[in-house]
Amino acid sequence: MHGTPVVIDDYPYSNEVLGEVRWYDLRAVQCGDGIALTWRDVTDKHNAAAMLAESEAHFRMLVSNVYGVVVLSVDGLVKWISPAVEALIGYSSDELVGRRSSHLWHPEDLPRALALRQKAQGGAPAGAVLRVRHKDDHYVWVELSSTPYLTSAGEHGAITYMRDVSEKVHAEAALEEREEKYRLLAENAADIVFQSDLDDRLRWVSPSVEARLGWGPVELVGVRLGDLLHREDTEPLRTADPRLAAGGDVTFEARCRRRDGTYRWLAFGVRPMLDEHGVVVGRVAGARDIEDEVIGRRSLLESEELFRTAMRAAGIGMAMVDVEGCFLAVNPAMAQMIRRDPEWFEGHAMSDILHADDVDAVSLDRVRLWSGESEVVTREIRLVRSDGRIVWARRVGALVRDAAGAPHALLLQIEDVTAGHVAAELLDYQAFHDTLTGLRNRAWIVDFLDAELVSARRDGEQVGVFFIDLDNFKVINDSLGHAAGDQLLAIVARRMADALGTEGTLGRFGGDEFVAIVSYIEDAYQAEQVAEGILDALSREVVIDGHRIVPSASMGIALSSPDSTAAGLLRDTDSARFRAKAAGRSRWHFSDEGLHADAVSRLTIEDQLRGSVANRDFVVHYQPVLRFDDGSVVEYEALVRWQHPVRGLLLPGEFLPVAEESGLIVPIGTQVLDLVCADMASRHAALPRVAVNISGVELARPDFARRIVATLERHGLDPSRLVLEVTETAVMPQDASIATELSGLRDLGVGLHVDDFGTGFSSISLLRDLPVTGLKLDRSFVNDLTAVGGAPAALASGLAGLVSGLGLTGIAEGIETQEQLDLLRDLGWENGQGFLLGRPGPLVDDL
Ligand code: C2E
Ligand code: CA
Ligand code: CA
Repeated sequence: MHGTPVVIDDYPYSNEVLGEVRWYDLRAVQCGDGIALTWRDVTDKHNAAAMLAESEAHFRMLVSNVYGVVVLSVDGLVKWISPAVEALIGYSSDELVGRRSSHLWHPEDLPRALALRQKAQGGAPAGAVLRVRHKDDHYVWVELSSTPYLTSAGEHGAITYMRDVSEKVHAEAALEEREEKYRLLAENAADIVFQSDLDDRLRWVSPSVEARLGWGPVELVGVRLGDLLHREDTEPLRTADPRLAAGGDVTFEARCRRRDGTYRWLAFGVRPMLDEHGVVVGRVAGARDIEDEVIGRRSLLESEELFRTAMRAAGIGMAMVDVEGCFLAVNPAMAQMIRRDPEWFEGHAMSDILHADDVDAVSLDRVRLWSGESEVVTREIRLVRSDGRIVWARRVGALVRDAAGAPHALLLQIEDVTAGHVAAELLDYQAFHDTLTGLRNRAWIVDFLDAELVSARRDGEQVGVFFIDLDNFKVINDSLGHAAGDQLLAIVARRMADALGTEGTLGRFGGDEFVAIVSYIEDAYQAEQVAEGILDALSREVVIDGHRIVPSASMGIALSSPDSTAAGLLRDTDSARFRAKAAGRSRWHFSDEGLHADAVSRLTIEDQLRGSVANRDFVVHYQPVLRFDDGSVVEYEALVRWQHPVRGLLLPGEFLPVAEESGLIVPIGTQVLDLVCADMASRHAALPRVAVNISGVELARPDFARRIVATLERHGLDPSRLVLEVTETAVMPQDASIATELSGLRDLGVGLHVDDFGTGFSSISLLRDLPVTGLKLDRSFVNDLTAVGGAPAALASGLAGLVSGLGLTGIAEGIETQEQLDLLRDLGWENGQGFLLGRPGPLVDDL
């Protein structure tokens, strides 16, 4: 039953309750048919000696693996260096151990190296990035991380982990950023180093664990690192194996239990630990205290989450922008407001969705907020939707500061107030529009007229005002009802507005009264044309409720003078409108009696002229053109006369202006040509050649030449018996096609004379541009020859030379005296026309 006790092992027992590890010497003794177990607390022994010896091997492995180079120093003397030191700085262990390390540092970095050591010896871990001198005299950037320790002899020492970061520093650190980078690197240096075996049991923990977590480094030995972590945070460590096996690092954040049972956030970096054969024998974990960081981050996260939720759920548009106005975040309501996907905002700025006119004001707001000049800024702005439509928005901006109180972002609340704006615009519209017809109302028209008068005065223009009053509207309203009346008003309003087009502005003055304003009116004649256009448009038949109505209206017209006022003009047109109504037959009346008389007479002439065109009331008189030397007839000029039914025979001066303005000159000219051709055909001997006057209006007709040729053919005439007389003013404004047309006629043999030569400015260029056969020296010229003398004579002489030089027929017009005739002949003119030589007259038998 007695036997040798069997020592099973020294067994480390982790006392969870006490939070410490104790070592026990466990023995089993055969005792009868049972086994008696005895154990003895050997913790102290372990701590003191055995563990030191045992951990030595681990430690060497650790330092060889963790950072590559480790320098141990006591009181500034190098005590030991890891084997990798040679590779890094070229010195052998023998060259460094027992010596000061200060000569190893770059002179600039020496103060920091000393500070680091002092800090470590003072019992605090510290880090720095420094340049260490290579034996070859170049410097290598290293990251140092020092941890203090107390030797068994009571000396203060430091374990300094040294890592080559030159590559990193060179790659990343721009010269001016260097300081900042070192600081970051130093801060990232590990605070605590845990070394564990393949089973994750800790074999060694750096002494700094005490300051951080309250554990003595030794009491953690044998504890699983995973067991020190908060249950919720162990996952990354448990699943680290595949990555570590592949030679990679595993980094994670976890809460680590302190000795007092509380937890502290640490950031872990775990690597596999290799032995000298490269076999994985455990893990090394560097841990950095990130408690403050996490707390800060967490509260930020929480408030951010809260904020995000609030933002997401808000019905109002919200956006966070930076100092440049670039979007940091927007909520769905904001995205919806401008019809964009939420993703669109990334990379876009407020200015991308702002109406161009609001960009400046908004950036000014941003500056005011950011600078702290204003806490909150409110403004109504226009946003542009993706479909181009404008959204009116009320934007409230506020500055968001970070924990340190520095400007962080701007929070914008953006409320769509378009509906309000539309309503306001509608009100605005209603204030200046007539709802029934959609036309401008009285108030607007009066304002508008005032403004137009100001600019007319400035530009020397005339404004035309037309006061339109529907005839018999009261009868329609009373007999058919208001609804029918309204319908009629709406219809005529639209017709009148269409007739006016962009030339003028129409408004409803009330009831059945309308006012049209035309900003540029040349003269009374143009005013009549506007009036005609309006009245013609409105007087087409309308059917309302089965009733046929032919609307008509009376109109008062006024043209502004420089001292006109809107009120005065409207009053004048109003009374003129009454006179128009009273006159019965006139559909309009000018406020100015003189203008009115003109207009009425012009109307009469035009009306009568139209009737005479239908009746063919025109006759032709012929005036001879004679050769001076023998008195023979060169040709006759055809001059039109109007055989007026009442007033008798009228000269062209009395009706040609109206005929030209109304376009009636075209059918009149056709009739003249037809008469002339008929005369030439029947009176061959008496009319060898005839010159016919052609107005610019006729020339502008596209079928002009074709009609002349057709007429000549119809009468079977030789084209060379016809001459066309055109004035410079008739040809000049026209385009090149007229020259082409005239050339075509010339090719057929038709003659071409430039009439009234010398009255315009470009007579000579006509001779060049047109196939001219002759020119007629204007009567005024001939008159001046004897009246003034001198210059006109010299010119007449020169022109005679030009005529003979170009081989043209030269005809002096309006010769009334023998003196003129003699003078012209002396100056070189060969042909002439005038009362002295023969008055225009009808074709008589003896002609
Ligand atoms: P015009 O082409 O310069 O015609 C000559 C005008 O001078 C004619 O006036 C003629 O009667 C007048 N006249 C002739 N000799 C003398 C004179 O010695 N002294 C004065 N004071 N006048 C003289 P008329 O017939 O009244 O024609 C006036 C203008 O009407 C013509 O001026 C011509 O431009 C135009 N005209 C005449 N007939 C026609 C026509 O059939 N068609 C077109 N488009 N215009 C015509
Ligand atoms: Ca003529
Ligand atoms: Ca003439």
